[in-house]
Amino acid sequence: MTGRKHPMTGTLYIVATPIGNLADASPRALEALRAADLVACEDTRTTRGLLAAHGVAAKTAALHAHNERAAGEQLLQALREGRSLALVSDAGTPAVSDPGALLVAAAHREGIRVVPIPGPNAAITAWSACGFLADRFLYVGFLPAKPARAIAALDEALPLVLYEAPHRVEATVAALLARFGPQRELVIARELTKKFEEIARMPLRDAPAWLQAGPHRRQGEFVLVLGPGEAKPAAPALDPGKVLGILLESLPASEAAKLAARITGAPRNALYREALARGAAGAKRK
Ligand code: SAM
Repeated sequence: MTGRKHPMTGTLYIVATPIGNLADASPRALEALRAADLVACEDTRTTRGLLAAHGVAAKTAALHAHNERAAGEQLLQALREGRSLALVSDAGTPAVSDPGALLVAAAHREGIRVVPIPGPNAAITAWSACGFLADRFLYVGFLPAKPARAIAALDEALPLVLYEAPHRVEATVAALLARFGPQRELVIARELTKKFEEIARMPLRDAPAWLQAGPHRRQGEFVLVLGPGEAKPAAPALDPGKVLGILLESLPASEAAKLAARITGAPRNALYREALARGAAGAKRK
C-alpha cells in the first residue's frame, strides 16, 4: 500500500540544467531527461539545444509563466495517467525564480511522487564564490519594478542574493549604495560558468565605476551578492519587577502594573498581583 491517492500515477522529476556551461548537466539529469515520457520546458527551443548537445531524444511540451495553469493541468493529467514527466526551465533549477511551483504543488496535492534532481543554480553558484563569512543569506531573487522601495524594506544586516537583468543592474547597484552605504561589500557575478564569466568583489562605492568600465560589464546575466552588515546589538531587556518597583514609588498598584506591562511587555495581571503582594508585605513590615 503506497498511501497515494492514485497508486498508478507517474513521477514528476524536477531537473536542474546548466546556467551556461552545457557540461554542467549531471549524468542523473540527462538520464531523467532521456527516460521521461515528456519533458516540460519553459522554452522548447532552448531545451532542445541542451538535449541535442547531449544526444538526448525526448518529447517536449511548453510550460512557461504565461500558460502555467492551462498547460499545467494537461501535464498533471499525463501524470495521473501514469506517464513520467521531467520539468526543466531555460537554465538552472526549476521553480527558483522560474515557473514550476504550481505544477509541483498540484502534484503534492494529488499524491504524485515529486523527485528533485539537483544541479546548477545561479544564486548558490554566486554565493559559493563570494567568500562572505556568514551562515545564512536572504535569497531575494528579482526585485520588483521599483527596486529602491523594495531595497529600503530589506533587513540591514543579512547578506542578500539578488538576480538582476542587464538593463536594470546599474539602477539596482545605485539603490543598494544609497541604502547600505559605500563601505558595504558587493560581489558582482556575471555570466557564471560561461566564457566571459566575471566575479568581482568590491566596496559598494566602487561598483558603479566597475559597471561603467566597459559596455560588456553591463551585458549578460547577473547575480549580485551583498555582504553582511553589522548586526545591531539587541536592546538590553528591561526587568519587569524593577520597573514595577520604581513605578510603585509614586503610583497605586493598578496604575503601576498597567504602565509596567506597557513598558516591558510582561503580563499586566501578573504584575498587578506582584504589586499587591509587595503592598501587603510593606504593610506587614510597618
Ligand atoms: N532558475 C534559475 C536558477 O536556478 O538560478 C534562475 C532563473 S531566473 C529567470 C534568471 C536569472 O538568473 C538571470 O536574470 C540572472 O540574474 C540569473 N542567472 C542565470 N544564469 C546566470 C549566469 N550564468 N550568470 C549569472 N546570473 C545568472
